[in-house]
Amino acid sequence: MVRYCIYCGVEDSIDNPVINGVCLNCRMKRGELVVVNERNLYIELCRSCFSVRIGYKWRESTGFDDAIEQVVYSVLKNKVKPGEGVSNLTINDYELITTPSWRTIVRVYFRGVYGGKEFEYPIDFTIYFKPVKCPRCKMIDSGEFEAVVQIRGIDSKLLDKIFEKIVSRDRRFVENIVDIIETRNGVDLYFYDHGTARKMAKQLSKYLKLRIKENYEVTGMRSGVSRARLYISLKPQE
Ligand SMILES: [Zn+2]
Ligand SMILES: [Zn+2]
Repeated sequence: MVRYCIYCGVEDSIDNPVINGVCLNCRMKRGELVVVNERNLYIELCRSCFSVRIGYKWRESTGFDDAIEQVVYSVLKNKVKPGEGVSNLTINDYELITTPSWRTIVRVYFRGVYGGKEFEYPIDFTIYFKPVKCPRCKMIDSGEFEAVVQIRGIDSKLLDKIFEKIVSRDRRFVENIVDIIETRNGVDLYFYDHGTARKMAKQLSKYLKLRIKENYEVTGMRSGVSRARLYISLKPQE
C-alpha cells in the first residue's frame, strides 16, 4: 500500500518519507521534528570567574563563548525530545545570532533520521545568564581557607578511589576540608589548616606516586602575625 502525506498528498519516497501519514517536508514546515518545551534558558554564571552552573555542578569556563558552548551541549540537549518518527536526534552544530553576552541568541542545528532519511533542522534559543557568585569565588572572597592541594594529571576515577580510601581511615580529613572543586584539568582541595593539607598531600603522593611542590602566598596580618596561604601542587612524576 502506498503511503500518502495527509497534509500535502505527496507519496512516500526515499527523499521525502511518509511516517504515520506525514511526510518529512511537512514535519519540517510544521516544526514537529524536534519537541522543544522551552526556548529560553536561564543559567547561572559567576561574574567573577565565568564558571557556569550545569545542573548541580559548577564548571569552569573562559568567558561567554565557552559558557554558551557548555550550555548548548550539556543543558540544551536535555531540553529537547525527538518528534514523532524521529530517531538519532543529536546537536550537530550551533551559531551565535547575537554577540555573546548575558543574553545571547543561538541557532542550534539538530540532526536526526526520519524514515531512514537524515535531516538537519535549526532552532533558535535564547540563553539568559544570571550573574551570581559561584561557591568557589564566595569562599575565596571570604578567605576562609588556609591551604589548597592542587592535583593535576590524574584520572578522576582513580583519584576518587584513593581519596575515599584516605578519608575513610581518618575522618579528620573531611572535617578540615572546606571544599572540593573540580577544575578543567584536575581537582582543588581547600583546607582550613596547613597540617591537614600536608598530610593529605603526602598520602595522595604515596598512593599515586606524585611529585609534591609547596608554595606560599602571603595574605596579610592577623593579630600581628603574618599569614601565609599554603599551595601544594601534586603532579605525576616525570
Ligand atoms: Zn507532506
Ligand atoms: Zn566564580
